[in-house]
Amino acid sequence: MENKIQTLPAHLANQIAAGEVIQRPASAVKELLENAVDAGATSVRLIVEDAGKSLLQVIDDGVGMSETDARNCFGRHATSKISAVDDLFRLSTMGFRGEALASIAAVAQVILKTRRVSDEMGTELELENSVVTRQQPCAFSQGTSVAMKNLFFNVPARRNFLRSNAVELRYISEEFTHVALAFPEVFFSMTNNGQEIFHLERGVLKQRIIQLFGNSLTSQLVAVKEKTDYLDVSGYIGKPATAKKTRGEQYLFVNKRYVRNPYLSHAIVSAYEEMIPQGSFPFFALFIELDPAQVDVNVHPTKQEIKFVDEKIVYAFIRSAIRHALAQFSIAPSMDFNLEPSIQQLDAVVKPYTTENKLEAEGGGIYKSFIQRHQAHRIGSSSNLSNWKDFFESSPKEKQVVQADMPQISNQLETEMEKWRSRPGNASLQLLFTSPVFQLHQTYIVFEQHQGITILHQQLAHQQVLFEKFKSAWQGKGMAIQQSLFPQVINLSPIDAQVIQSILPDLLHMGYQLEPFGSNTFLLQGAPADHPTDNDQQVLEMILEDVKDSTSMLHQQYRERMSRAMARKHAVKSGARLAEETMRDIVERLSLCQQSTIHFDGKPIFIEVKNDFLIESFGI
Ligand code: ADP
Ligand code: MG
Repeated sequence: MENKIQTLPAHLANQIAAGEVIQRPASAVKELLENAVDAGATSVRLIVEDAGKSLLQVIDDGVGMSETDARNCFGRHATSKISAVDDLFRLSTMGFRGEALASIAAVAQVILKTRRVSDEMGTELELENSVVTRQQPCAFSQGTSVAMKNLFFNVPARRNFLRSNAVELRYISEEFTHVALAFPEVFFSMTNNGQEIFHLERGVLKQRIIQLFGNSLTSQLVAVKEKTDYLDVSGYIGKPATAKKTRGEQYLFVNKRYVRNPYLSHAIVSAYEEMIPQGSFPFFALFIELDPAQVDVNVHPTKQEIKFVDEKIVYAFIRSAIRHALAQFSIAPSMDFNLEPSIQQLDAVVKPYTTENKLEAEGGGIYKSFIQRHQAHRIGSSSNLSNWKDFFESSPKEKQVVQADMPQISNQLETEMEKWRSRPGNASLQLLFTSPVFQLHQTYIVFEQHQGITILHQQLAHQQVLFEKFKSAWQGKGMAIQQSLFPQVINLSPIDAQVIQSILPDLLHMGYQLEPFGSNTFLLQGAPADHPTDNDQQVLEMILEDVKDSTSMLHQQYRERMSRAMARKHAVKSGARLAEETMRDIVERLSLCQQSTIHFDGKPIFIEVKNDFLIESFGI
């Protein structure tokens, strides 16, 4: 038999390794921007063409490189940031592994220009497939420029995997935002296809936050600053009023690198406790500084995930720091425990976690609902109530019996109802035209039907009706638009403006006619005709919040999200008094829905109290 094993050619091995570091244009942006600030730049410009697919360039005024370094920096494991093996363990989590430029050179065409302040001439290099194809001296101001062209030109499979320009551009903006937040003392700008999207003057963190997220945060930020021997935390959190329904603007940095850590995010959010509604997320931009040795090195750095050697300490500390900040601004009603010097010892920080915090966690909503759910499950399956599910479902047999008992129903009604019954999924929603409909607690619509009484949640029902209506509007010619006499000016943050810009045609389809009007500003020329509201800006903000979440930007998914956001906004609310006609209308339209029993959030829309249940309960 022939031998089968062969060693991969170097350029192929490089490409494969590069795939781990550079997955999309945004990953290269992160690496290049971080290199620029590592080089001590005070000004960093990012130039993007075609969402980074044809060009990404970062120009900095940092220390620059010598001619030799310029050639060497593209080598695998080439770095100036690690000098001893010990350093490797301390720094590798922060992304200093000397892999970024090597990876970029393996999957794109690169042009590097660089000059140190002490050198008369700079160096210009061109690379393709990791090989230098041209080198010459060049005139260049102090610093470095790295341009990467035609990302994945030699890995078509990866290129095809990239998403639409709008989506890739948003990933890029996110990475840009992370680095810009961490270094407010550095000037940053970003242009896309020649248009400047960000222009961030040097300043302090608070100014940077407002530049990035808009003026509306100006009076809404609370400073956080706590120091211990173990770690420091500083930054800003949003007042409870800034909490949003989606986990959008939450930024956590460890030693100036952006990280994701759901556990710590939970520590922050839970510090708000009853101050914000469950399931809403406050703004934060927080910076943790600690000895890098306290960070677990076995986590892949490009994934932005991070583990701490002692996570519980960090959790307790962060949570108390947030409580402290909220309390200082007399927002929190009370403090858990303060962080006076006496408490700065590790033990003292640990203690509250193991005692108070545990109790507190057990009293918390998540814990309780978890426990309750388990108990409910036990009762449901082991007690003789296990057939209670039947009360909520009709069986074909029952229907027959009921029909026979109701001779007074006219033939026409019979055929109407037959139609409903044959509809999949909503066999049990049958409003009798002759029976009364009334409202309970201004929240439920109650009516009689053959098998019993139906109690329908007005808000959930109407939301479902509108959701299906909006969803089907995507297929047709769209929603009717009511032109407004006085166009409304909509001001947005740069990021939001970008998102809106990328979905203008979709918004128009849904009845929102917006026109760009200067930087980050739009004019609302028209709104959905059938669904007037007194606050279109708020509706747009809700839509934005829903579609912004970058994890779900497949076109289909985000249209669905947009439909949901609009349905939520336009539907009647619990607590609203409804006329009988409106209630009938909602029931009727719900009965025509494709999915009339379960709300798009997964909640039941109505329940039924069956006649059998009544008979059984009264025993007569
Ligand atoms: P790392 O950042 O992990 O060291 P990189 O591949 O990103 O690895 O960069 C390799 C080396 O190239 C860096 O250690 C640094 O010495 C040099 N370098 C990269 N970018 C710049 C820059 N913008 N200015 C100056 N030196 C740079
Ligand atoms: Mg680097």
